[in-house]
Order: sequence, then C-alpha cells, then structure tokens
Amino acid sequence: MTTGRCLCGAIRYEYSGEANLVVYCHCESCRRQTSSPVAGFVLVPKAALRFTSGQSKEFASSPGVWRSFCGECGSPIYYRTDRRPDVIDLYAGTLSDPSTLTPQGHVYAAEQLPWFEVLDDLPRYPGSRMADAPMRRGPRKDG
Ligand SMILES: [Zn+2]
Ligand SMILES: [Zn+2]
Repeated sequence: MTTGRCLCGAIRYEYSGEANLVVYCHCESCRRQTSSPVAGFVLVPKAALRFTSGQSKEFASSPGVWRSFCGECGSPIYYRTDRRPDVIDLYAGTLSDPSTLTPQGHVYAAEQLPWFEVLDDLPRYPGSRMADAPMRRGPRKDG
C-alpha cells in the first residue's frame, strides 16, 4: 500500500498496486496551482485509491478538469479530468515517500520555463499526449 498526505495531515490517502504513470507537467495551470516551475504527478486507477482522512476541496480549472487542495493548509492533492474518469493524478509531492517513484516523461514541455531544467534523458512531449512524438529526449541544449 502506498500512502500520502497534505502538509497539515488533514487529508490522507492510500492506494494499492502500482501507479499507471509518473510524469512531470510543465503547463501553466500546474505552475500556478503549485506555485512551482514544474509539477510531478502519480497517475493511479481511481478504484485503487482511497481517502482515509479528510475531504479535499475541488475547483474546476477548465471545463471538465478539477484540481483539489486541502482546505486547511492549501496543499494541492490531485488533478482529475472527465477525459480520463477512471484515473486520478496525485501530486507526487504528497506521497509519504516520493523518493521511490520513477518518472517516465515530461508533458507540456512546450510551456517549460526557460530558466528551469531537469537533467534526465526522458522524453519531452509538447502537450499532454504521450502518444505524440516527443519534442526531444533529455534537457534543452544551448545554442
Ligand atoms: Zn492540509
Ligand atoms: Zn499541468
């Protein structure tokens, strides 16, 4: 069982089995919600996820897209979309031990900030679709 929580501990969750996917998202909306240059996500089947404490608040950041946060401490908890109703995208930083995760790619790399880079050789996709051809693999090169 994998567990996680918000900063204050009011919201707690657990999920069974392996995550579907672990990705970085460079989109502007994630940047604004997390106030960070990049967000990390752990995509888990909705059926495998259970909230064991508290109830996060949700707001619609665009039609059919919800982002949740702890009403006490403000920690972002998850992202979900009607396009993938059986999957919940947990913010990776909420895991009890995010160090065990293995990221598999970067999405919305087209919106990546010029002063921020990640030194891995994973594929960079321009938008959300990992079925599309990546823009490149690995960090940007100068010149
Ligand atoms: Zn909290
Ligand atoms: Zn995003």
